Amino acid sequence: MVTGLAWDERCMWHDTGLYFGPQEGNPWIEPIESPENAQGKRRIKNLLDASGLTAHLSMIEIEPASETDILMVHTPEYLAEVKRVSESGGGNLARRLGTTRIGQGGLDIALLAAGGALSAVGAVLDGIVDNAYALVRPPGHHAEPDEAMGFCVFGNAALAGMYALTKHDIDRIAFVDWDVHHGNGTQAVFWEDPRALTISIHQENMFPPGRGSIGENGAGDGVGTAINIPLPAGCGEAAYLAAFDRVVLPALNQYRPQLIIVPCGFDAGFHDPLGRMMLTSQSFSKLAQRISKAATDLCNGKLVLTHEGGYAPHMVPFHCLAVLEELSGNRTDVIDPYSFSAEAALKQKLLPHQDEAVGNAETLLNFLPV
Ligand SMILES: [Zn+2]
Repeated sequence: MVTGLAWDERCMWHDTGLYFGPQEGNPWIEPIESPENAQGKRRIKNLLDASGLTAHLSMIEIEPASETDILMVHTPEYLAEVKRVSESGGGNLARRLGTTRIGQGGLDIALLAAGGALSAVGAVLDGIVDNAYALVRPPGHHAEPDEAMGFCVFGNAALAGMYALTKHDIDRIAFVDWDVHHGNGTQAVFWEDPRALTISIHQENMFPPGRGSIGENGAGDGVGTAINIPLPAGCGEAAYLAAFDRVVLPALNQYRPQLIIVPCGFDAGFHDPLGRMMLTSQSFSKLAQRISKAATDLCNGKLVLTHEGGYAPHMVPFHCLAVLEELSGNRTDVIDPYSFSAEAALKQKLLPHQDEAVGNAETLLNFLPV
């Protein structure tokens, strides 16, 4: 397997400034560094280099997305707003929820991040690599067509999917979003589009508020092609694997995509400050193994991962290394040094309330068009 890595140091220069919490301007929040900063992502690249894995990957040079590319998914008004903020010193783009800051010239970096996802899909569909990982920021899966949200400016994964559908000979794609938060942006883009199956597995009742229930199934021609698997806080590997084996993989088998895109967050990791799940590097490896096998069985291995959340900078490099080892079939000598403290997480069996949550999501398979 040849695995591509889309990386550009300039994505790390995305300036999220100081963070003022979920309410911009709240006088009681002492400003602090944003949880979405360069640290964790740069440390991922550093560990890939230090462990020797980078040498086994094929580097994908990122071609920045054009404004025309962005308009495949976003409204002209929203693009104009990003441009205005980018040209006037930077600031908060989020209108309703939380903080999504860019710095001066932030538009160019957001175009680079989106371009990373497009370049990764292009490299896979052109047969240059078998699968690919776009290690970019700002992330994308919360960005709505007309609105920035949750640190996300442009919908990188959604854009990559739309690019595959419009610029390549691809008719059906599937997203499997395992970020701990709901993949609302990707879902919104393809809400009425039967050419895309959007699956999001996430912690229930978290972010965005009120989104990601099993009742959100798509509309119009896209009815049944949105699948949400909200899991209760505290789920470990057993619950995630149950969700994969009983919902995600059967849904993929039923839908038969020609390309799988994974908006890949590591904030379901057991040390993450923004999530309350208990996955380990070993767990992420198992998820990657399952999705890789599904891609091999269904779409000639065509698989692209876009980097989303993950806010424990000491942990995420090991989670991402585990995923890239699985995708590329290359093992390094690195053993996640934090695994020893994950014993409780690994021992957790599927608990009755978790089993019930997976069972509820299983019923959605009945509504997925064959
Ligand atoms: Zn997240």
